[in-house]
Parts: sequence; C-alpha cells; structure tokens
Amino acid sequence: MRAEIIAIGSELLTPYKTDTNSLYLTEKLLETGIKTDYKTIVGDSRETLYKAVKDASKRVQLIITTGGLGPTEDDITREVVANFLKKELILHEDIVSDIKKHFSFRKLKMPEINIRQGFVIDGAEIIKNSVGTAPGQWYEDENIKIAILPGPPSEMKPMVENFLLKKLKKYSSFHYKTRSMRIVGLTESAVEEKIEDIISGLKNPWVNILAIPGQIEINIMARGKEGKDEALLKGEEVFKKVYDRLKEHVFTLQKDKFEKVIGEMLLKSKRDIAVAESCTGGLLANRITDISGSSAYFERGVVSYSNRAKIEMLKVKQETIEKHGAVSKETAKEMAEGIRKLADTHYGIGITGIAGPTGGTMEKPVGLVYISLSTPEKTEVFQYRFIGRREKIKWQSSQQALYHLWKDLKGDE
Ligand code: AMP
Ligand code: MG
Repeated sequence: MRAEIIAIGSELLTPYKTDTNSLYLTEKLLETGIKTDYKTIVGDSRETLYKAVKDASKRVQLIITTGGLGPTEDDITREVVANFLKKELILHEDIVSDIKKHFSFRKLKMPEINIRQGFVIDGAEIIKNSVGTAPGQWYEDENIKIAILPGPPSEMKPMVENFLLKKLKKYSSFHYKTRSMRIVGLTESAVEEKIEDIISGLKNPWVNILAIPGQIEINIMARGKEGKDEALLKGEEVFKKVYDRLKEHVFTLQKDKFEKVIGEMLLKSKRDIAVAESCTGGLLANRITDISGSSAYFERGVVSYSNRAKIEMLKVKQETIEKHGAVSKETAKEMAEGIRKLADTHYGIGITGIAGPTGGTMEKPVGLVYISLSTPEKTEVFQYRFIGRREKIKWQSSQQALYHLWKDLKGDE
C-alpha cells in the first residue's frame, strides 16, 4: 500500500508556518510498513483541495489529510472529501454534544458555528478527538482509503497512535524497525569513518546519518515481516556493531534531547548547576530549563554580557579582564568559578566568546569561544573555534558546554 499525505492550510503556503504533520506521519507510516509516495500542500480552497484529492486517488491507495477541520468557513475538508466520494454529510448529534461538553468544561458556551464539526461523511468511521473539538474520520471502500485528521499536531497525533496505525496494520505485511542512537563529541566524518566498514553497501537494513551542529544521529532501519525475519535480525546485529564502536559517545538510544539526558544524570547524582553566560546570552540556561523538573538541579543562570556584569555579578577580577580580555581562558575560568561559588552548586559553567559577525580581530577571531567547567575538584577551560553564523556559534557553544558537563557526569557514573 502506498500513501499520499495532503496537508491543508493556506498558512502552510507562506513563509510563516511549516508543515510538520507530514514529517510525523511519514515516520509512523514507515514503522507500520507503508511508504509515502507523495506529499501535497494545498491552501484552504475547495477547487485545489478537490483536485489534490482526485489526483492522489489515482496514484495511491491511502490518502491522509490534515487540517481544515475547524468550525469556520475556510475549513472545507469534510465537505470536499464528501463531494469527491459522492457521499452525504450527516450530522451526528452525539459529536455536537461532546463538543458542547468540551466548551462547558472550559466554562464557555459552544458557538453555533461549531456544529459544522459534527458532520460526518456517510459511511465513515469517527475518530475520537481526546484533545480538541473536531473528530477525525476514516473512510474506506474497494478503491480508496482516506483518513481525515485535524491540523493541530497535539490533536492529530493521538488519533494516529490510537486509531489509524491499528487500522493500517492489517494492510501491511511488512513493518519497519528503526534503532537509533545520538552521539556527541565526534564530527560526522569521524563517525562515518569509524563505522564505514559495517554500514557500506547495506540495502536492508540500511543506515542514515543526520547531523545537527554538535550532534549526530544514526538510524538503522530494517524492513521485514513480523517475527523472526532475517532483515530485522540483521538490523539488530548492525545496530550492536555500530553501538559497540561508538558507545563512548552515545548519550541516548531513545532520541532523547541532550539536555534531558543530562538532567537525569544530574538528578541521579544529586548534583546541581549554575551557569554564567556571555556570548550565548542565556541559551544554555534556556536549554537546561526546557526540561520539566529542572528546578531540582538548576540553581541559577547569569547573563553577564558586559565587563562590568562579569566583575559585579561573578567577581571576575578587573585585572584579569584588563590583562587577558573578556574573551579569554582566564576570564572563562573566573566566570565558572565565580558562579559556582556564588550559587553554591556542584557545577559552574562559564562561557565567553565572539559570536560575530562583528567584533572579531586577527588575534581573537569570530567563533573563538572559551568554555569553562568548574567542579569541587578542578576547573577546566576548553578553547573552540566555531564557524558559521551567529546563531550557530551560540548553539555550538551551548552544545559543547553540555558535552563537557555530560563527560564529567559520565566519568563518575
Ligand atoms: P486546522 O485544522 O486547519 O484548523 O488547523 C489548525 C492549526 O493546526 C493551524 O493553525 C496550524 O497551526 C496547525 N496545523 C495545521 N496543519 C499543520 C501541519 N501540516 N503541520 C503543522 N501544523 C499544522
Ligand atoms: Mg486551517
């Protein structure tokens, strides 16, 4: 079975909104053994949507739409798909009463226009919406299968997990198994070099390597029949070999964020942390506090951008800055030690550097960053020369700071 995803929404055709639903859907479909042949994005227009559904029906057996299920005039998916199938839309009172409940729970009265969301294509199955108001729909006959899902990812995803994947299982005799790992402290080419002999020439299983600055993700995928399938077993074998080569650098096998893994390690070791940031402007603190529960180990973060702030807030010595500069090994060290002492934490991190594009000199070029990690035992400083734009340099700085923290935590495990 081949699939096409139709993402519906005029906003998706502007520079302001990206279609992320289809990324999620293609991943889930693949795991179920269904390949996506096409993705189409259309605005909220009856004509284009009708044409998109019609075209899709000629080239695939499964169509999944997302979006256009809201209560307003421009939410046209129900209508257009019903038209295409030459089916009536039937009002389901029980859906309307569910929507009313949804509103009254929030102490609101349901606006009349929401009644639209109670219309279901004749013969379609209703997919309950546990999060929002618009239910999804599933229609199938001998020619075509169509899943109609809402646009908001938080509403769409549970429907896929709880309904669609179960529905689709019976149409796929294959399934895909993916094993993943995320790696820090190695470049993409270093990773490739280390595992080339294991992965080269593989067809099933196969391997893809994704890199973001400071982090590499390896996915080992295999397609096979459920149970003791050769390709799946081989996939597991390749995974083990790759893992064995890289395990020192692997921080998760579950696609967890780096800062989440570090948070768990801090919790487990009962250690806390404070950070003093200059060129990252709070990015490191932001990333650490993106993790729910971080208050258990994150004590404070200071953005000490000016020399005065470094001196006043972190007790960096004026002579240090005068003699070595604000971007220097010495200043980074005093920042890390200063914040650790002030916050009375186990760890202190100091970051100072030149994010650019202005401000670089021959001696201290753009991308020069010092990262210091201070612990009760020692304070280390690491020098980096990052390349790229300002945001990338800031990101890399936060990433490498986390990397040194992770290594220290790991070393003591
Ligand atoms: P709709 O069901 O068309 O009312 O969509 C409601 C909201 O869901 C939109 O405003 C978007 O923010 C979001 N949304 C719709 N389609 C997508 C998509 N393909 N990817 C990510 N978000 C989406
Ligand atoms: Mg919309």
